[in-house]
Amino acid sequence: MSTLLIVFLLTLQSFGASQQNSYSHAVSKIRFNHVSHSKIKLKNGMELNVSYYGFSKDRAEQTIKTISHASEIIHENFSGNSALSDCKQIKLKVYDVKRSILNNRKIMTFAQWSNWGNLNVSALYETGYSRIGEPAMFISASSKDDPHGLNREERARTLVHETVHYWQDRACKLHKTNSEADAYRFEIFFMASL
Ligand SMILES: [Zn+2]
Repeated sequence: MSTLLIVFLLTLQSFGASQQNSYSHAVSKIRFNHVSHSKIKLKNGMELNVSYYGFSKDRAEQTIKTISHASEIIHENFSGNSALSDCKQIKLKVYDVKRSILNNRKIMTFAQWSNWGNLNVSALYETGYSRIGEPAMFISASSKDDPHGLNREERARTLVHETVHYWQDRACKLHKTNSEADAYRFEIFFMASL
């Protein structure tokens, strides 16, 4: 009896530990009204499979359009040492969530909140760790879907920033020291080009 109990406790413990570095725990706590899958083809021949989990068909289309447009401009503008080529085959999952869910520390347990002074965020990019090949971006909803959500410009800007992180991840350059600065620079460049 006591041996069984110990085994059970150990199993529970390792399950808890694996949840720490995966976003599956978060996703299991959220309900989505709309799910869609798209394939984006870029002019340079690169392809990107995106799955959207969020509020509506319209919001899915708007989100995919921004990611697609940003991806084209990213590949036109990142060249030389900062070129973002294919290093690994990864899809992208986009989770469109209310701001209160995005910033709920009990749901978003995979994020290292202490890394940015435990401040609230507009989006999170998660490489997937144990679920290699399935990175995800969690983005704060549009103000049309959530009263505390992002306005049109903030949302475009945030999506563009996270899209840079996706391509950095795909190029195995996400953890390079300038990846955050590059994402911020591109956000500004992209918004000015609209
Ligand atoms: Zn960033």
